[in-house]
Amino acid sequence: MPKIPFFSHHPDVEIDPVCKMEVEIKKPPGGTHEHEGATYYFCAPGCRVAFSKEPEKYLDPSYEGSM
Ligand SMILES: [Zn+2]
Repeated sequence: MPKIPFFSHHPDVEIDPVCKMEVEIKKPPGGTHEHEGATYYFCAPGCRVAFSKEPEKYLDPSYEGSM
């Protein structure tokens, strides 16, 4: 089995859609939010609240991240 470099995308992290930070899915500091059947993970409660208010804004491919 080839070893996966530690700096590659880790399967246990997801990208916070608001600030584009990596978030550990086992203990997301900002909790999670479900939207249209998908679960999103957040680095902080502020990101989760922002996303829950305007998910379409943060899921738009033209959105580049903030904060
Ligand atoms: Zn965030």
